[in-house]
Amino acid sequence: MDTIGQHPVLTTDKNFQSLGLSEATLKLLNQIGFQHPTPIQSDLIPPALLGRDLIGLAQTGSGKTAAFVIPIAERLQHGEGVRGLVLSPTREIALQTKAFLDLFGRHHELMTVCLIGGVPIRPQIKDLRRGPDVIVATPGRLLDHLNRGTISLNNIEELVFDEADHMLDLGFLPQIKSILKMLPKKRHTMMFSATMPYAIEQLAQRYLNDPLRIDILPEGKAAEGITHRLYLVNPMQRKDCLLTLLNKELGSTLVFTQTRREAHWLYKTLFHEGHPVIDIHSDKTQKERVSALEGFRSGEHRILVATAIASRGIDVQGIKHIVNFDIPETVEEYIHRAGRTARGDAKGLVSTIATFMDLPVVKRIEAEIGQEIPRCSVAGIEPFVETQKKAVQSRRLKSRW
Ligand code: AMP
Repeated sequence: MDTIGQHPVLTTDKNFQSLGLSEATLKLLNQIGFQHPTPIQSDLIPPALLGRDLIGLAQTGSGKTAAFVIPIAERLQHGEGVRGLVLSPTREIALQTKAFLDLFGRHHELMTVCLIGGVPIRPQIKDLRRGPDVIVATPGRLLDHLNRGTISLNNIEELVFDEADHMLDLGFLPQIKSILKMLPKKRHTMMFSATMPYAIEQLAQRYLNDPLRIDILPEGKAAEGITHRLYLVNPMQRKDCLLTLLNKELGSTLVFTQTRREAHWLYKTLFHEGHPVIDIHSDKTQKERVSALEGFRSGEHRILVATAIASRGIDVQGIKHIVNFDIPETVEEYIHRAGRTARGDAKGLVSTIATFMDLPVVKRIEAEIGQEIPRCSVAGIEPFVETQKKAVQSRRLKSRW
């Protein structure tokens, strides 16, 4: 059986039988233990099977991968050239999507090839010669292949933009536009995004045909079941605060940093302290990333230190604790990071280490999640107290920090 990530997920009380799927797919769903569709699956699969263009407003953890993979697998047959294209923001998401396509595409013998950066291009060219039906690609590497003439997208019938907002965050808009120019106008397009900024609306208006909008985002809030905590400290004490937290809160922990340099430094520090830790960021090869994720998933490494970008699409069951070693720059990023825990019915904890300079972002996050994040402290570290007086004092200290 192909390995697809699985963890508790919120489902509806509907049946897959009511969605218009083939017997073969229903049998497979039963085999892998998917008993009921998730909300995005129940809303999206029927119109997608009919070829309707769609915008799915949904996050990772909603079951969206199966929601778009199943209709593609039902609609495509093997051996008619490259008909399906899924654009993914990161290598990890692309690999996960391929695993779903391998699984659900089995009854039509669909062959899927993953074109992602960070790995040698030659084996991919070899795979392309074997006549795949579906391509899952990150935009940069796909464009590389298109420029080399190793692939043609003239016959694409099924197109998916997965996590479109993240693709734009990563600066892929120019590549996406170049790729779109090479696709046939008549096609079935599905776009997924966890937020709907103006640039995404524009993309949708321009490249989708009268799309149906399916919004299953939880009222702009992070998932339920998450406990938020804020540790306001002096910038010099962030590391000590983290070390104390890691010893206090046991269980699988994902630590976020803003930069890869900081991720690497933190990894070395934690390793030196004797923690079972591994790191993942863009300086790592694809092989190292896969093995780091496997080590984290299997529990060999209790702690994973990751940059926000490298963590996209991390689908690991049972992450108990998220630590923001750096406060995320945007509210969306906070919600996205927090969403790595408390998936489905599970409970999770998000600890954010921040300094007084981060307070404006904290306020924005609080407005979004609709609650004041409890101020907490760890033993031995004096918390920063948010009084007017202290704030004035702190501004004076700012230049020294
Ligand atoms: P995704 O949002 O696509 O990352 O999926 C989140 C997780 O939910 C993955 O681990 C899937 O294997 C799992 N999943 C998706 N659909 C279902 C379902 N209908 N029943 C149970 N698990 C599901």
